Amino acid sequence: MQRYAVFGNPVAHSLSPVIHAYFAKVTGRDIAYTKILVPGTFKDSADAFFKEGGCGCNITMPCKQEAFAYADRLSDNAKAARAVNTLKKEADGTVSGYNTDGPGLMLDLQRLECPLKGAHVLIIGAGGAAQGILRPLMQQGCASISIVNRTAAKAAALAAAASLIRPEGSGTAVEAVTFEELQAHPEQYTFEIVINASSSSVNKAEAPLPDSLLSKAAFAYDLMYSTSGDTVFTQQCRRAGVNSVHDGMGMLVCQAALSFEIWQGVLVPPVQAVSELASVLRHA
Ligand code: NAP
Repeated sequence: MQRYAVFGNPVAHSLSPVIHAYFAKVTGRDIAYTKILVPGTFKDSADAFFKEGGCGCNITMPCKQEAFAYADRLSDNAKAARAVNTLKKEADGTVSGYNTDGPGLMLDLQRLECPLKGAHVLIIGAGGAAQGILRPLMQQGCASISIVNRTAAKAAALAAAASLIRPEGSGTAVEAVTFEELQAHPEQYTFEIVINASSSSVNKAEAPLPDSLLSKAAFAYDLMYSTSGDTVFTQQCRRAGVNSVHDGMGMLVCQAALSFEIWQGVLVPPVQAVSELASVLRHA
C-alpha cells in the first residue's frame, strides 16, 4: 500500500485524510493517508517518513517554507509562492515540491464559473496564501489585481515582487492599495471580484471596506472556510449585496485533488468532488 500523509503543527484538525480517502475510493487506489505532527524540524520528520517508504505528503502550517527548502526541485507555482504544500518522492529517490493552493483556487473558481478574464480583482491580505494565488491569478488573464493588507507595507512589497513571478505573456497590472484609500474614495474603484486571502475571518473581524465598494462586486470568495458555509467575510459580502459569495471549502478540496493527481496521475473531477465532499467535511 502506498503511504501518504499531511505534516503540520498542529495537524489534528486537518480534513485532508477524509478528502484523500474519498479520492482513493472513487479512483480505486489502495493508499494510506495519515496525519503526522511535526514536533521539531520538518526535515527530521520528512526524512523519517520517506526513509520508511512514504511516497508523498501534504504540508500545512507552519511547515510550508521548510518544505520549500526541503525539495530537490520546485514547480513554478512553488517558486512563486516560496512555499510547498505537496511533496512527491520520485523513482530516482529525489523529492519534487509543488504548491497546489493557488491552482486549487483557480480550479474552484472555474467550477464556480467565476469570470476572471479581463476582471479587476481585489485581494485582501498579503501573507502566504495571497502570495500563492498571485501568479495563478495573473495566468488567468485578469485585467488588474489590487492588493490591500492590514500592514500596508506587506501589500506594497508583494505588488512590487509581482514582476519577478509574472507568467510569460501576462499583461495583468498589479498594484497595492490601502484600506484608507478604499474607504475614502470607494467611488474611484470597481472590483468585479473580491478575494479574501487574509485571516481576518478567523478573528471574527470584518474587512474594513465600505458596503458601497463591495456592492460593486459580482463575486466574492473567502479562502477561509467554515462548517456553516458562512464566514464573517462571506456574511459581510452577502449583506453588501454581492451576488455570488463562497467560502474556501471548494479550494480545500481542489488543492487536494491536484496533490492526488501529482501522486497518482488522475484528477477527480472538481464538480463531483466538491459536491460529494462538502457536506461530509462541514460535519467532520
Ligand atoms: P498568513 O501568512 O499568516 O497571513 C495572514 C494574513 O492575514 C496577513 O495578510 C495578515 O495581515 C492578515 N490578517 C491576520 N489577521 C487579520 C485581522 N484580524 N484583520 C485583518 N487582516 C488580518 O496566513 P495565510 O497562510 O496567508 O492564510 C490566510 C487565510 O487563508 C487563512 O484563513 C487560511 O486558513 C486560508 N487558507 C485557505 C486555504 C484553503 O484551501 N481554503 C488554503 C490556504 C490558506 P498582516 O500582514 O497585517 O499581519
